[in-house]
Amino acid sequence: MPALTKIPAWLQVYNKDICWKMDGLNNSIYLTFDDGPHPVVTPLVLNILSKYQVKATFFCIGKNVEQYPDLYTRIIHEGHQVANHSYSHRSGWKMPVDEYVTDVDKAGRSITSTLFRPPYGRITPYQFKALKSRYKIIMWDVLSKDYDTTIPDETVITNVTENISPGSIIVMHDNEKTVGRMEKILTQIIIDIQNRQWNFRAL
Ligand SMILES: [Zn+2]
Repeated sequence: MPALTKIPAWLQVYNKDICWKMDGLNNSIYLTFDDGPHPVVTPLVLNILSKYQVKATFFCIGKNVEQYPDLYTRIIHEGHQVANHSYSHRSGWKMPVDEYVTDVDKAGRSITSTLFRPPYGRITPYQFKALKSRYKIIMWDVLSKDYDTTIPDETVITNVTENISPGSIIVMHDNEKTVGRMEKILTQIIIDIQNRQWNFRAL
């Protein structure tokens, strides 16, 4: 089950068109990082991924790519996947369809990808219909809650390690909220998964 507290009814109708989890072929696991590039956390994440030879997917925010173009380029040069996470990271529930699509396409001018993840996982059926011919909508099945500073690092780690299975798409965040904890949580999560002999893949 996806780790949203409640899945809207329309989402269940379109569920087959939305990717919550990959097939678990070759025990593959998909790490994804949302909201970057961030000047502190993104380089830290890239260094850890390089150390453990892990490939991942970065759902970038368009305005952050414009602000940190060198980090965006570094993500690609190090063999990771980049993907669209909108330009201004606003909730789809509060935006008209055309405004939402314009915001995604604005991000698409600097982020070359057909993968899109809605900010906060919030997208209306009309927004979804307007985007689905051009973008593959990627959600997740395992939410680390690394952005929740009220829960301890150990809980973030077990949110992932106790809920993954082959094919899982894990959400983490390279943003301001994970500055102090990313090194510890990411290292522990990678070690746990590599100890199972599972394989990290980019989307
Ligand atoms: Zn986000």
